[in-house]
Amino acid sequence: MQLHNTLSGRKEAFVPLNPERVTMYVCGPTVYSFAHIGNARPAVVFDVLARVLRRRYPRVDYTRNITDIDDKINAAAAKEGVEIGVITRRYTDIYHEDLDALGVLRPTYEPKVTEHLAHIISMVERLIANGSAYAAQGHVLFNVTSYAGYGELSKRDRRELIAGARVEVAPYKKDAGDFVLWKPSTDDQPGWPSPWGRGRPGWHIECSAMAEALLGETIDIHGGGHDLIFPHHENERAQSTAAHDGKVFARYWLHNGFLTMDAEKMSKSLGNVKKIRELVENENGRGEVVRLALLSAHYRQPLDWSESLLSSSRVRINKLYRTLEDAGDVPESNAVAPDSFLAALEDDLNTPLALSELFQIRDSLQQAILSQASAQVRATLVAQLRDAASLLGLLRQTPDAWFKSFQLSGKAGANPTASSSLEGALTEAEIEAALAARSAAKAAKNYAEADRIRDGLKARGVLIEDSKDGQRWRRL
Ligand code: AMP
Ligand code: ZN
Repeated sequence: MQLHNTLSGRKEAFVPLNPERVTMYVCGPTVYSFAHIGNARPAVVFDVLARVLRRRYPRVDYTRNITDIDDKINAAAAKEGVEIGVITRRYTDIYHEDLDALGVLRPTYEPKVTEHLAHIISMVERLIANGSAYAAQGHVLFNVTSYAGYGELSKRDRRELIAGARVEVAPYKKDAGDFVLWKPSTDDQPGWPSPWGRGRPGWHIECSAMAEALLGETIDIHGGGHDLIFPHHENERAQSTAAHDGKVFARYWLHNGFLTMDAEKMSKSLGNVKKIRELVENENGRGEVVRLALLSAHYRQPLDWSESLLSSSRVRINKLYRTLEDAGDVPESNAVAPDSFLAALEDDLNTPLALSELFQIRDSLQQAILSQASAQVRATLVAQLRDAASLLGLLRQTPDAWFKSFQLSGKAGANPTASSSLEGALTEAEIEAALAARSAAKAAKNYAEADRIRDGLKARGVLIEDSKDGQRWRRL
């Protein structure tokens, strides 16, 4: 498998440190409000990566944390006059429900910062003991000048980084780039006892501590959105490497591109967000449709979110389910996704190419149905289609349940961008291809085959009439 490593800036062959246990850490959500569809992108992308890795390796330990200590959470709790736990529990549950709707499997571990304070404190103590960090005025800071590799991940000179990030200048900092590992809490702020007084951890240290606790000192893959490269991942890398005597922290750094709306990054601060909740509740944006839309671009490229992306994704999913419905009951088959499909995913998770491979299997199945191929042939193609789709987290329902859920929502015709009754029907190109196959069969005097194609088309609502000018067709 090839993966693009942000650290080297190129695609590299993925070789796990221990093939018996692949380790992956992805930075999870800060739970203070609804997650937006941009936040769903890393969750879906790394879910596909975990599925692909699990195909190849016996054990993949995937950790995605929940950030449940944060000043934005404090602000939300203060506004409602409740404990932070009320806010974090509410939005953790909502996050789970939203990701369930998108078919994102739960990670192996989902640690919360509040459950790892002892580990965070011990890591900060070790960093102070080895001279990488220092305590000053109730704060503990990481001294960036102590780590020579600082800036390597984000590829910028340390001075330049600091200027660019407009870091907070504070009298207790030895260097303007030093960042907070621990900070004091006032009486009205949530806080935990520590050797430096009552306080709370800075943001970055939590991931270093939780990765160490659950996955060990060196992990195979570390992922997150592109915006996390600096300062978050640069700082995680500095802390972990310093705490582990210079041992490599993460061997492959993967970052997804932004989801944009009208070419601007979707973010709460810009106010251009679309909640996952709004989309999955809406008939046009049910989970699988949103998931396919998210996978339609390569994960490192920007993805512009639009109504037309959603409606074209919906048409594509309908097409897959329609073909499965047409295939009807077929015998069991152990067939799995073809190599070309896996090869696309193993090439730095090329989901657009994998999707086009998936639709090729669908086209072959469609042809097999039209030409009334043997049950065995159809069964193999159905199994291939289902297995390939499962690696992408798609086709999780039966066609019956899928189409029924549309009827039940009572909105089947409500969306003007969807071509309602024609959705999933054979396209003109497919009908023309079937007619060409029928002409060829007739020319070869294979009338049985020609009749099979005609009957297959009729079953799909397309009537063929033979005339002296050739074949004509119309939709029933
Ligand atoms: P947050 O809760 O803001 O820390 O974000 C959770 C995850 O979503 C992080 O990996 C972010 O990098 C990622 N993320 C946030 N906004 C976007 C976006 N517009 N497009 C893609 N990923 C995003
Ligand atoms: Zn992190």
